[in-house]
Amino acid sequence: MAQDRPLNPSELLSVLDWYRAAGVDVAVGEEPVNRFAQRPPVRPAEVAAAATESRPAPQGLAEAAPAAPASFVTDPGEARGLAATAQSLVELEAIVGAYDGCGLKLRATQLCFADGNPQAQIMLIGEAPGAEEDRQGKPFVGKSGQLLDRMLAAIGLDRTKVYIANTVPWRPPGNRTPTPEELAICLPFLHRQVELVAPKVILTLGGPAMQTVFNTTIGILKMRGRWSELTVGTHGVEAMPTLHPAYLLRNPAAKQQAWRDMLSLKQKIDALGIA
Ligand code: URA
Repeated sequence: MAQDRPLNPSELLSVLDWYRAAGVDVAVGEEPVNRFAQRPPVRPAEVAAAATESRPAPQGLAEAAPAAPASFVTDPGEARGLAATAQSLVELEAIVGAYDGCGLKLRATQLCFADGNPQAQIMLIGEAPGAEEDRQGKPFVGKSGQLLDRMLAAIGLDRTKVYIANTVPWRPPGNRTPTPEELAICLPFLHRQVELVAPKVILTLGGPAMQTVFNTTIGILKMRGRWSELTVGTHGVEAMPTLHPAYLLRNPAAKQQAWRDMLSLKQKIDALGIA
């Protein structure tokens, strides 16, 4: 039935509860927008090309992921130029924090740049900050981060021995997967972060992080557990993808595969004499 009186506070709270239960956890405007009536935004050709070059969109993902707002489709070349000027991780963090070219920043609470030891020889790369990471400004501090800590502990590692970052340093609204444009814009920052940490080993967590770092469209279940020699930015490194801890929380049976990957990581670090 149509509602023609203002809602009282307890009704408003139950509407908010209903939104939260449905996964709506950010307000993006004062007025509702009918997205079904809109045409897809037109992407500037150079940005679409850059996105394809650095991270070919997996089949179906480009259609499924919401496009970045047109006003924030900027040139990844600008980010590349800025990233190249950073001579330390502290400088890079300041540069990324001041950068306004990625629309994710608008709706995030704060920058979520990295956690762990900047001198570590092992670097972990996840997809994007979630709600708790956005609140604390550190990667992997929510439920999946707690599982990640247990996975690391199982092979004798902790955050003093690894460095952790994400493919994008701001939380995508509602925890959606970052769009190819957002990934392309933030990629020069991630590449510079890898160059400055200069790890011997990279472990990517989940499909989107793997596809971004390995520049592939292959699925995670095919590539997980396999080591490759990669050049990330200008840095040569041995890298292996594994499953994302959030996936393991939803699919506990997959922990068996993740455990094999962790044992493989342990063997690799023992062979390299690191950590
Ligand atoms: N998932 C990620 O990929 N990164 C985080 O920092 C938290 C959850």
